[in-house]
Amino acid sequence: MGQVRQERESFPGKAGLLFPSDLGRNNALGGFPLSEARAVDDNPTYDIFVIGGGINGCGIARDAAGRGYSVYLAEMNDLASGTSSGSTKLIHGGLRYLEHYEFRLVREALMEREVLWGNAPHIIHPMRFVLPYHKGGVRPAWLLRLGLFLYDHIGGRRRLPPTRTLDMRSDPAGKPLKPLFTKAFEYSDCWVNDARLVALNARDAADRGVVIRTRAKMTEAHRDGGKWQITVEDTVSGQTEQVSARLLVNAAGPWVDHVVAGIAGKDVHNVRLVQGSHIVVRKKFDDPRAYFFQNNDGRIIFAIPYEDDFTLIGTTDQDYHGDPAKTTITEKEIDYLSRAASEYFREPVSQEDIVWTYSGVRPLFDDGASKAQEATRDYVLKEDAPEGAAPLINVFGGKITTYRRLSEHMLEKIEGFLGAKGPSWTRSAPLPGGNFPMTAFDAELRRFRERYSFLDEAHARRLFRLYGTRADVLLGAAASYQDLGRHFGVDLYEAEVRYLIENEWALTAEDVLWRRTKRGLRLTSMEVAALADFMAQAVGNPAKSIKTAAAASR
Ligand SMILES: Cc1cc2nc3c(=O)[nH]c(=O)nc-3n(C[C@H](O)[C@H](O)[C@H](O)COP(=O)(O)OP(=O)(O)OC[C@H]3O[C@@H](n4cnc5c(N)ncnc54)[C@H](O)[C@@H]3O)c2cc1C
Repeated sequence: MGQVRQERESFPGKAGLLFPSDLGRNNALGGFPLSEARAVDDNPTYDIFVIGGGINGCGIARDAAGRGYSVYLAEMNDLASGTSSGSTKLIHGGLRYLEHYEFRLVREALMEREVLWGNAPHIIHPMRFVLPYHKGGVRPAWLLRLGLFLYDHIGGRRRLPPTRTLDMRSDPAGKPLKPLFTKAFEYSDCWVNDARLVALNARDAADRGVVIRTRAKMTEAHRDGGKWQITVEDTVSGQTEQVSARLLVNAAGPWVDHVVAGIAGKDVHNVRLVQGSHIVVRKKFDDPRAYFFQNNDGRIIFAIPYEDDFTLIGTTDQDYHGDPAKTTITEKEIDYLSRAASEYFREPVSQEDIVWTYSGVRPLFDDGASKAQEATRDYVLKEDAPEGAAPLINVFGGKITTYRRLSEHMLEKIEGFLGAKGPSWTRSAPLPGGNFPMTAFDAELRRFRERYSFLDEAHARRLFRLYGTRADVLLGAAASYQDLGRHFGVDLYEAEVRYLIENEWALTAEDVLWRRTKRGLRLTSMEVAALADFMAQAVGNPAKSIKTAAAASR
C-alpha cells in the first residue's frame, strides 16, 4: 500500500501473523478466543458471516450486532489494510461528483458529514477547503458558485460553516500560491482518520458480540441446505476453521469479484478497479485550511495539512488490473501530482520533498463509464439468493463517507431474509472514545491535559485525537513518562502499543505505525526494528514481526 520514498520499500500488506485465538486472553480482541468458542459449541451457526475488515465490512458487522444478530467477521490481513487506509481521508459530499449528476450520492454523503462528526468527534473534524480560480481557468466562476450553492443547500448542513469568497491578495490562504490566483471560494467538509474509523467500528462491533478474526481468510464457501458452510484459514499457520452462517455478506472491496467468482465457480465482472495514489511532502503551507486544485485535464487534487509537519497531495485515477494487495505509486503518478500541485504553489513540489507515498484501489461499480475518473462512486448492494438457498449479498463500490448508510441499506436487505430484530441505531451512537459533543473537542482535550499534566502538549493532542475519551483507558493511572513503559521513539511508548495489541487487533509494527497511528512517518529504521521485536514478543510470535518493511525516514 505505501512507500517510504527514500527507502523505496513497500509495506507487505499480507504480513500475516497469528490468529487472535493464539494470543490467549491478553488480547482483548472482542468475541472470544477460538478455543473458547469451540468449548461452547463445536460449530455454531451465526446469523451473518462478513467477508472483509474494511470500513464496509466493519460498519455492517457493527450495525448488525447492535440490532441483535450474531456475526462473524473474517479479515485476511489487518483491519483497514485494503482500500480503507488508502483514501484521501475526507468525509465529503464530493463536489466533483455534481458534474457527473450523482445527486443521490452527493446528498447522502453531505448529510453524513455531520452525523459522522457527531459519532466520532475525536477522529473526525471539520475542515475548510480553499478553491482558487482565475479568469480563463478550467471552470468558470459561475459554475463553481452554482456547485457550491448546491453543496451548501442539498445536504442538511447545520453546523458546518457555509461557502464564502476570499480575496487571495489579502487572505493568508493566498500566500503560498502563485499571484495569478487572486480569488477563491472557501467551503466546508470534514477530515477523517480513515484506518482508525475502521478499527473503532471493529472495536464497537466486538463489544457488541461480533467475533472478529484478522489474518483470517475466507477460502471457501458453499451452500448446504439453508446455510453457508465457510472455511476460514489462518494466513500464517495455515490452520483452518469451519463456520456456518445463515447469510453471507461479501464486503471484500477490490477482491469482491474474486470472492463471487470463487463461490460461483466462474468469472464475473462487477467492479472496475481504479488506482489512486497520494504523495506526502514536507509541509508546503502553515494555514490549517486545505486546498482544492483544478487540473488542466479536468481532474482535481487536494493539498491537505497532514500530521502537523506534512502536506498530503492526491489523488490520481487510473485503471488497475493487478493484484490489489500489490499496488504502489508509479513514477507517472508522482510526476502528475507534483506537476499539478506546482501549477498552484509558488514553491514547486519537487521529488526531494516527498517523504512517503501510498496507493489504494477503488472497487467501483462498473457502470461502463469510459474514463476511470467518471465511473460512479455510488454503491450497489446485489443479492444472490436462489429460492430456498442461503443468501449472499455483495457490496460493490461505496465511499468511506457513506459506510454507515450503506450498512443501514444492507441491514434492510438482511432483515428481508432473516427477519427484523432491532431498529436502526447507529445515527446517534458514538464510536469508542467519541462520547462527547461534536463541538467540545477543545474542552475535552483540556480536561485530558489536566488529568495527565505530565504529557507534553503535542503528545496529549495526538493521543486525544486518536483515542478520544479512551485515551484515559490507555494511560490509566500513569503520572509520569516513566509509567508509560518502554520508549520506542518520538512519542510512542509501550502503554500505547500494548493498548493497540489488546484492544485493536494490532499484531505487527506495521499495524501500529501505519494504520493505528502514523508514527511510521517519524520513527527511524532502527526504532521500527526494535518495535517489531517487541511486538513479536508481546503477541507471542517467535518469528520476528515485520521489521524492515515500515521503516520511515526522518
Ligand atoms: C485513492 C482513494 C481515495 C479515496 N478517498 C476517499 C475519501 O476521501 N473519502 C471517502 O469517503 N472515500 C474515499 N475513497 C473510497 C474509500 O476508500 C473506499 O470506498 C472504501 O475504503 C472501501 O471500503 P471496503 O470496506 O469496501 O474495502 P476495503 O477497505 O478494501 O476492505 C475489504 C477487505 O476485505 C478483505 N478481504 C478480501 N478478500 C477476503 C477474503 N477472502 N477473506 C477475508 N478478507 C478478505 C481485504 O483484505 C480488505 O481489507 C477513496 C479511495 C481511494 C482508492
